[in-house]
Amino acid sequence: AKEAGRNSYRFFNQAMSEQMKGRMTIENSLHRALERKEFELHYQPRVNLSTLQVAGFEALIRWNHPQLGRIAPLEFIPIAEERGFIAEIGKWVLDEACCQAQRIIDATGKPIRISVNLSARQLAGEQLLDDVRNALDRSGLRADLLELELTETALVNDIDASTRIFQALKGLGVSLAVDDFGTGYSGLAYLGQFPIDVLKLDRSFVNQKNRDKTGNKRVIEAFIEMAHRLGIPVVAEGVETADTLAFLIACRCDEAQGYYFAPPLPAQEVAGFLERFSGD
Ligand code: C2E
Ligand code: CA
Ligand code: CA
Ligand code: CA
Repeated sequence: AKEAGRNSYRFFNQAMSEQMKGRMTIENSLHRALERKEFELHYQPRVNLSTLQVAGFEALIRWNHPQLGRIAPLEFIPIAEERGFIAEIGKWVLDEACCQAQRIIDATGKPIRISVNLSARQLAGEQLLDDVRNALDRSGLRADLLELELTETALVNDIDASTRIFQALKGLGVSLAVDDFGTGYSGLAYLGQFPIDVLKLDRSFVNQKNRDKTGNKRVIEAFIEMAHRLGIPVVAEGVETADTLAFLIACRCDEAQGYYFAPPLPAQEVAGFLERFSGD
């Protein structure tokens, strides 16, 4: 037992140091990733469940690291936040996403919406309003076609500050979405506090396994009903199966997003996807 303990300790150490190495490489190369153009946005379509048309896309960042390969956002966004790089990255995301959205709109003639994820840190900073204004100006994108996604936790962190920024953003004409709805423990009072345009039901809620747990189905139904009473449309994320889709349609969910329709797509595949999707 002692031997095993020592081995697993050594193993643990090795794993730890691998992890630390990875983290150090990430930290060291993160500050140059922007100027080296290693970031890329992928776009996941969101489908309107009454018309079955593509209503918009969510922009999701990827980092193509020259040595480590593609790094997922959950691995570097928290580090970028800690190290103070998130404002610069976030600004780049806004610019890139708005330009790409305007390109899609020019190509299709359809008013397709673009959603951009914001980190809590961006909400706290002074830079956000300017960044949003600049991204709209530079791209020529209509303000109401830009939607900013914020998690509940980011919102309720500092209600007064969030309220101020929300009002200022609304003043620019952009839409505001609550991301990962249903995962926080913040209560629902904030729903009345903020001018929220969209609720995005978290995928952990929506997927089959969890949905079948006692009561969860009804919770989802109740969430959607409540949102509708407040005049807020609901988007379900993480829709992977026809079953889930049917359930959501029965609940009168407004829009859905997930692998069932498409994974996040590289920019150059977006036009082709739109053509195929409206073709059948
Ligand atoms: P999120 O905003 O909740 O984004 C949804 C995540 O679910 C994405 O992961 C997406 O690829 C994944 N997904 C989509 N459909 C399905 C599905 O049917 N099944 C499953 N299992 N997963 C699905 P991704 O791209 O790895 O992003 C993870 C998180 O990183 C995002 O969660 C968001 O919080 C953050 N993030 C991504 N891009 C940005 C960004 O530009 N800025 C900031 N601040 N955060 C970002
Ligand atoms: Ca999101
Ligand atoms: Ca989400
Ligand atoms: Ca999430």
